[in-house]
Amino acid sequence: MSECIFCKMVAGEIRPDVIYEDDDVLAFNDIHPQAPTHFLVIPKTHIATLNDLDEAQAPLVGKLFLTAKRIAADRGFAGPGYRTVLNCNAQAGQTVFHVHLHVLAGRLMGWPPG
Ligand code: 5GP
Ligand code: ZN
Repeated sequence: MSECIFCKMVAGEIRPDVIYEDDDVLAFNDIHPQAPTHFLVIPKTHIATLNDLDEAQAPLVGKLFLTAKRIAADRGFAGPGYRTVLNCNAQAGQTVFHVHLHVLAGRLMGWPPG
């Protein structure tokens, strides 16, 4: 059995606050939100980091962004704007080693990010 916390969510062993799910992706609210809206979109298949992505998974990565886009439209923050973040490895601050797209909205974002 996988020790990956996000794989446990996909398997239904841990149930996050799910906002969207289909055969390929799961989207759920971040447990420590950094903005009024902060959710994660993950592939259902385990990919540890962006470095581990292969060519065949390009459509899956596209689907992470399309899911973010659709939820943004549904929830009314597509127009005002939002930020997507994908941290890769330690220096970027990755703490969960299952690829996940952060989607943050509802406040003015600073630049550059910390
Ligand atoms: P990273 O730092 O790897 O880019 O982001 C990991 C994110 O996962 C963090 O924003 C953290 O708050 C979130 N996270 C970690 N454990 C859990 C959990 O058990 N449930 C939820 N909903 N989010 C989690
Ligand atoms: Zn995993």
